[in-house]
Amino acid sequence: MRILITNDDGIHAPGLKSIASVAAEFGEVIIVAPDRERSACAHAMTMREPLRVNEVKYLAARVKAFEVNGLPVDCVNVGLTIGWPDGCDLVLSGINNGPNLGFDVTYSGTVAGAMEGTINGIRSIAISMAILNSSETINYDLGADWLRENWDDLTHAELPPLVFLNVNVPNHPAKGTRYVGMGQRVYKDRVEMREDPWGRPYYWQGGVAVLDGAAPETDIHAVKEGYAAVTPVSLDWTDHAVLKRLQKTA
Ligand code: MN
Repeated sequence: MRILITNDDGIHAPGLKSIASVAAEFGEVIIVAPDRERSACAHAMTMREPLRVNEVKYLAARVKAFEVNGLPVDCVNVGLTIGWPDGCDLVLSGINNGPNLGFDVTYSGTVAGAMEGTINGIRSIAISMAILNSSETINYDLGADWLRENWDDLTHAELPPLVFLNVNVPNHPAKGTRYVGMGQRVYKDRVEMREDPWGRPYYWQGGVAVLDGAAPETDIHAVKEGYAAVTPVSLDWTDHAVLKRLQKTA
């Protein structure tokens, strides 16, 4: 099995090492990751600058690794070009250093790595450590162990061509795994105004996620309850029910 690995936390991120060491137990691995952290870059790609690729030493000789001065989407496409121009069997993205729950999916560079794999016609999985309290230390071993235990299910699950899996693993031993939908994660105080030393305002985006009211059968709810959440996400963004209604009234 040929496995391409990327992330959005950069080539030096501990979560990348965790995911790669598990993948290496199951197949031939190539890591192609951004040369620095690129979190929240979403599905952006680099178009106006050349992409440079450097091979780096990583884990063991059997794992080839490259850093790219680009984004997760660039890494997947460059990785396929230099590694497996005919495609590979699996694209893994992660393990991210925080949750990608609900609407986070639309901002996430980790998820974008899986989206790009899917667009290339390859089974793709994004994995994130769902810490819900930023003061916690992330234990990536929990994500790695979960991935190892669920490897067969993930790699054999029947997925239509445009669907990938978004996985969030809790930062404590999971009670189990739930297959759930995408929740609606809303942030409170998203933009904070501050002042620079000259009294001019500037704005910092971040905010605290409001997880309360997470509906059952969603990723947010599952993680809150202590379960790993697996959400199938489709790249067909068409709302077919609304489309039919509009076509009828047109
Ligand atoms: Mn990240």
